[in-house]
Amino acid sequence: MKSHYDYIITGAGLAGLSLLMRMMQHPFFDTAQILVIDAAKKNTNDRTWCFWEKESDIFEPIVIKKWDHVSFLAPSYTNELNLSPFTYKMIRGIDLYSHVLEKAATKNNISFCTERVLAVHSDNHGAKVVLESQTLTASKVFNSILFEPANVLAQKASDYFLWQHFKGFEIKTATPVFNDAVATLMDFTVDQAEGTTFMYVMPTSPTTALVEYTLFTPNILEEEKYDKAITDYIQKTYGSIDYEVMHHEFGQIPMTNYSFVAGAENLINIGVAGGQVKGSSGYAFHFIQEKTKTIVADLVAGKNPLRARTFALKKFQLYDSVLLRVLHDKKLDGASIFTAIFSKNPPDRVFRFLNNESTLIDDLHIMASVPTRVFLPAAIQALLGVKRRRA
Ligand SMILES: Cc1cc2nc3c(=O)[nH]c(=O)nc-3n(C[C@H](O)[C@H](O)[C@H](O)COP(=O)(O)OP(=O)(O)OC[C@H]3O[C@@H](n4cnc5c(N)ncnc54)[C@H](O)[C@@H]3O)c2cc1C
Repeated sequence: MKSHYDYIITGAGLAGLSLLMRMMQHPFFDTAQILVIDAAKKNTNDRTWCFWEKESDIFEPIVIKKWDHVSFLAPSYTNELNLSPFTYKMIRGIDLYSHVLEKAATKNNISFCTERVLAVHSDNHGAKVVLESQTLTASKVFNSILFEPANVLAQKASDYFLWQHFKGFEIKTATPVFNDAVATLMDFTVDQAEGTTFMYVMPTSPTTALVEYTLFTPNILEEEKYDKAITDYIQKTYGSIDYEVMHHEFGQIPMTNYSFVAGAENLINIGVAGGQVKGSSGYAFHFIQEKTKTIVADLVAGKNPLRARTFALKKFQLYDSVLLRVLHDKKLDGASIFTAIFSKNPPDRVFRFLNNESTLIDDLHIMASVPTRVFLPAAIQALLGVKRRRA
């Protein structure tokens, strides 16, 4: 291994590998020396990503299932939503890791290192990556490692914080039971005693589906509770069917108004570490793709990819902060909020809003759908930057 590179990417997860893939697709980087470092070999199927988009992007070849319709279910409102012009898509973690790593293996300017990163630093001349065995330097470092857990960072800053946590079973049934033309985006007809709770069902064929039990709460549950909730839901929804669990996954995603550090000089944070998780929903796939596109475009144009937050981003972060406050302080439950939004707006407006792509007119419509008496005080607090009281 050399001691200096043009670019070092720390963390070969979604953000690191999306950036690498985009770099590999542009001739500008053909002669750049690029090193990717991760503590893990990235050879396990540790997560499934779902996201909606209008156009095809770089990971289209590994999309395993697409839906044009999704359903939304709550005690007082149920609907099947036509997503047009969006399509909802699913990608398996292992397919993404293999796809990018196989392509990288054909390039002699890209190297990998399986080692734990202890720290990253920037200075005027470049950036440093501290490993257990040595310290490396690069002109730019793109870092996707969060060196301190997000809940600890938010706690220190007295910011609002919830975990979006979930367990999913990928099941195979003995007989066909699923309508695989429609994915269940949110089913709130489950017990809400723990806080905002919904089921998420992604049928990939009439006999296979990913069934996920998802919560937005301050604390993670004991494992048996997720398992029981999924088993009960399958029984309630599909009856006493024979099925086997092919695979399971667990996730916990930070939902916070904490301002993740964007970077410093030649160090650019990306992914969860760079604040690319939407604070009010936990969605990250789309935002990571947008961020890595911008980074590549900036590097090609000779600009520093470390940019100030745009007005649009500040606007959406304010909305996230408002919604998060309402959820965190239990001023209104998630089922009622999402029911109000989905029942009073066309789906394309809601999906633009959730992707931070809505216009001011769209935003006003969304705001008009939720109760002013709950959201206005939270909006004033968020605008004034009122912090959470420490417990
Ligand atoms: C199970 C699961 C399902 C999800 N599903 C969705 C979804 O459907 N849609 C959506 O929008 N978002 C989803 N997310 C949220 C988000 O998209 C993912 O968390 C995504 O992987 C974040 O990308 P990242 O690169 O920031 O982090 P990661 O993908 O976690 O990558 C970070 C990398 O850093 C490495 N690393 C960590 N510490 C060190 C260290 N000290 N030294 C070296 N390497 C280190 C890790 O091994 C890892 O490879 C999901 C998250 C999970 C956990």
